[in-house]
This record gives sequence, C-alpha cells and structure tokens, in this order.
Amino acid sequence: MKHSELTRSAEVHILFNGYADAHVASTVSFVRDGDVRVIIDPGMVPNPAAILAPLISLDETATSITDVVFSHHHPDHTLNAALFPNARFHDCWAIYKDDIWQDRPAEGFQLSPAIQLIETPGHTPQDITTLVGTRDGVVAFTHLWWSADGPEEDPLATDLAQLHANRRRVLAIGQLRLIVPGHGAPFTPDEKTPS
Ligand SMILES: [Zn+2]
Ligand SMILES: [Zn+2]
Repeated sequence: MKHSELTRSAEVHILFNGYADAHVASTVSFVRDGDVRVIIDPGMVPNPAAILAPLISLDETATSITDVVFSHHHPDHTLNAALFPNARFHDCWAIYKDDIWQDRPAEGFQLSPAIQLIETPGHTPQDITTLVGTRDGVVAFTHLWWSADGPEEDPLATDLAQLHANRRRVLAIGQLRLIVPGHGAPFTPDEKTPS
C-alpha cells in the first residue's frame, strides 16, 4: 500500500536520543504541524525531565501536546505516556482519550496534513511508522531499525520476513530524507542501511 501525499509543513525535533545496552531508553521525538503537537514514543528515559526540558525549550509544555504516538506497545516506548494529560493516544488499532477507546486501523490515518501513520509489523505484530512531511523531505519515525549501527537483524522480532519487507517499504518512500530509529539518533538512509 502506498502512503498518501503529505504536505511539507511539519517541523521535527528529537527530544532524546535513545540507546539499548546496559541501560535502555527510547528515542523520543516531537513534531509540530499547525495546531497539532505530537510526541512519538514517550518511553523509558533517565527521568521525565529528559523529555520535558527539551520540550519547554521549544516553547511547548506537557499540556500543549495534542497527540501521542506509540510505535508499538513495549514499555520502553510507552512508559511516560501519562506526562501528557490532554493528548489523544494512537497505536496500531485505536485512538485513546480519557475513557474513550475508538477502534480504527492505523494504516493511512492522518493526524494532520503532514503527519500520517502506516502499519509496519515485524518487530511486533503491532508496529506502526509515523511519516512526516517537512520542507526538506519525509522523516520516518520507526522501530524497524534500532539505530544507524544495527543490529542488522532485530534479535527480538516476532516476524523477520515481515520486518524486512516493511524496511523495504519505508526505504522506497519518495523524498525519504531521515529515519528516526527506536533506540538511536536520526540517520540518513543510504545503500548501507540494512533492508
Ligand atoms: Zn519493542
Ligand atoms: Zn525498543
């Protein structure tokens, strides 16, 4: 399935670069498009200030966040979700707000003209990727890669064939300029990026 055309109106900021070694932390990101303010993967970090301080330096607060996206359901990517009391929360199968659980498929769902979810299972059956249109091209926030340095094969993947197929799907996206992986700094995909 193809993703739809995104406007190039969003700006992206990495709040925290994750890692997975003796300690584990999620890469936590912030996307702004018009009135929509999104946090992607508010998971494990050394402390909440690791997410909130960089957010405040962008003239935002925890209460100004309108949407939170979970790339998948593992705690290292979800643990700090309650920092954002006004947000609705998105995963592969629903939107959650206060006590409302609204079923919907993630594939093709748009949070704004520049922000779209696609379903990219493999690491788990419930993985999604957030595609964001910016002035310089499309940014993909995804757990299909842990970091620019690997691992080439995801040791925890529930379905490796699916994972590789979805890596190829993301790498084939036109105007793709940056991948924001699950546990590392953003990187520019090139021929050495494992597919
Ligand atoms: Zn995971
Ligand atoms: Zn992870």
